[in-house]
Amino acid sequence: MKTLDYIIVGRGLAGSLLANELTNQGKKIAIVSDESMGSSSLVAGGMFNPVTGKNLGKTWLADKLFPYFFEYYQALEKELQASFFHPIGVFRPFSNEENKAYFARQMEHNDLYDYLELQAPDSLLQQDIKSELGGLNTKMAGWVDIKVMLEKIKEKLSSKGQYVLNEFVDYKQIKINSERVFYKDFEAKAIIFCDGFFAKNNPWFSWLPFNPVKGETVIAEVENYNVSKIMNQGKWVMPLGKNKVRLGATYSWHRLDFENTDEAREELISKTGKFLKRHVKVLGQQAGVRPSTTDRRPFFGVHPKEKNAFCFNGLGTKGVSIAPFFVEQFLGFLSGEKDIHPEANIERFYSLFS
Ligand SMILES: Cc1cc2nc3c(=O)[nH]c(=O)nc-3n(C[C@H](O)[C@H](O)[C@H](O)COP(=O)(O)OP(=O)(O)OC[C@H]3O[C@@H](n4cnc5c(N)ncnc54)[C@H](O)[C@@H]3O)c2cc1C
Repeated sequence: MKTLDYIIVGRGLAGSLLANELTNQGKKIAIVSDESMGSSSLVAGGMFNPVTGKNLGKTWLADKLFPYFFEYYQALEKELQASFFHPIGVFRPFSNEENKAYFARQMEHNDLYDYLELQAPDSLLQQDIKSELGGLNTKMAGWVDIKVMLEKIKEKLSSKGQYVLNEFVDYKQIKINSERVFYKDFEAKAIIFCDGFFAKNNPWFSWLPFNPVKGETVIAEVENYNVSKIMNQGKWVMPLGKNKVRLGATYSWHRLDFENTDEAREELISKTGKFLKRHVKVLGQQAGVRPSTTDRRPFFGVHPKEKNAFCFNGLGTKGVSIAPFFVEQFLGFLSGEKDIHPEANIERFYSLFS
C-alpha cells in the first residue's frame, strides 16, 4: 500500500489548483483523472469578467474574488514559469442608442464605475467591429489559458513525485471507513472529489442539486484581425493571436454530451457576425458540460456522513474567477482552521441527503 494524505478524483481546474496548493503544503497526493472522458476545463474560454449579462450584473463576490485571483494567477505564472493569465479587457460595443442609454443607467444603478468605463467610437476598432456608437470597457477582465496552466501544474506534480494517473475511477473501487480511504493500492487520510459534471454518477455526492449546462466554442481564423480585447455582445470573440480567435459560448440544458453540433457552430457564427465585420473561417470546435448548480453557487464541503470524503465542485460558468479564492478557503477547512462561505458550503443542501 502507498500511503498518502489525499486522493483527488478529477484533474480539471478544480482538482489541479487544489493538487498544486496541497503539494506546496508538503502533502502527499494521488490525482486520478481519465483524459478520454471529456472535461469542462479543457474546452472553456477561460474568461473572467466582473460584470456580465444583458443587465450588467456584478459577478458574485467580485470585490473579493477578483483582486485575489489577479495576484494568485500572476504568482502561479511566475512559479510555473509559464504565461497563461491574460488580463486584456472586455469591450461591449453598443448595439443601438437604446442599449447605450440602458447600459449608462445600469452602470449608475449598480455602481459599476470601478469595473466599467464608457469608450467613445474608435475608427481603428471600427475596421473590425461594428462599434459606431462606442461601447463599454470592462476593467479587470480577460482570460486564462486553462489548458496551458493545467499542463504546467501536471508537470510540476510529476516532478515533485506526486502520483498523476490517467485512468477511469470506478467508484466501486473506492472504500471509505471512518479512519482511512482506500483506492487500488493507495491508502489516504481523505478523498476529494473534483469530478465536475460526472459527479452525477458519484455515490457520495450525486444527491447535490447540479444543473449541468452543455457549452460549445469555435476556433476560427479572421484575416487581418487587429483587435486586442475580447469583444462581447452576448456572444464573444476572444483574440488568440496570429489572426486566430475563439468564439463562445453556447448554453444548452438538454443534450448533455461532449459532441460538437452544427446548431452551436451556426449560432456562434451568426451572433458574432452581428458585430464582427470580417470573414470567419472555422478551424475547429469543442464541446463540454459545465458543472453548474441550481442555486448558481459552488459545492464545497464534506459529506454529511463520511467525514473523510470531500467535494470541490459546482464551479459552473465561472470557475476561473471562483476557484482560486475558494481553494485557499477549502484548504483551511480541511485543516480545521477555516469555515467555508455559507453560500458555497454544501451544508446548505444536507436536508436533501438521505
Ligand atoms: C464551452 C464552455 C465554455 C466555458 N467558458 C468559461 C469561461 O469563459 N470562464 C470560466 O470561468 N468558465 C468557463 N467554463 C466553465 C469552466 O470550464 C468550469 O467552471 C470549470 O472548468 C470546471 O472545472 P472542474 O475541474 O470542476 O470540472 P472538469 O474540468 O470537468 O474536470 C473534471 C475532471 O474529472 C474527470 N473525472 C470525472 N469523473 C471521473 C472518473 N470517474 N474517473 C476519472 N476521471 C474522472 C473528468 O475526466 C474531468 O477531467 C466554460 C465551460 C464550457 C463547457
